[in-house]
Amino acid sequence: MQAAAGMEPDLPARAIRAAGLKVTAPRLAVLEMLRGAPHSSAEDIFAGIRSALPGTSTQAVYGILSAFAAAGLVRRFDPPGSPTRFECRVGDNHHHIVCVRCRAVRDVDCVVGQAPCLQPSDDSGFVVFAAEVTFNGLCKTCQEQAAHTEV
Ligand SMILES: [Zn+2]
Ligand SMILES: [Zn+2]
Repeated sequence: MQAAAGMEPDLPARAIRAAGLKVTAPRLAVLEMLRGAPHSSAEDIFAGIRSALPGTSTQAVYGILSAFAAAGLVRRFDPPGSPTRFECRVGDNHHHIVCVRCRAVRDVDCVVGQAPCLQPSDDSGFVVFAAEVTFNGLCKTCQEQAAHTEV
């Protein structure tokens, strides 16, 4: 058994095991890639791991991501007008800000510090435990580009 001090590189394997899933090379590659590149789509991840895992496919990556999401290991996020993104940051009630031009996604911390950030004006009798907010805007790069092209 490894000492606790050397645990960092083994973290993805531990996380997969803790989620009740078997550790496989493709699962490890997907989770490692996602840790380094949050809000990636299945396509993005496939592009990042295909050279290391020639036998894999977008469909396989999507299957792995779905299993991870079902096990609570990753969170899925559907920005309007672009493919589903995945991230390892789960369970903290964070929101997203999306650039309407280049589709860049950034995290926004929970607005009031605890879930749900918002109370609906009429909850129809539901018990509300989470609110997912997508802020739409223009990222810095796109603001600069817009300023140049408008001249
Ligand atoms: Zn942008
Ligand atoms: Zn996020």
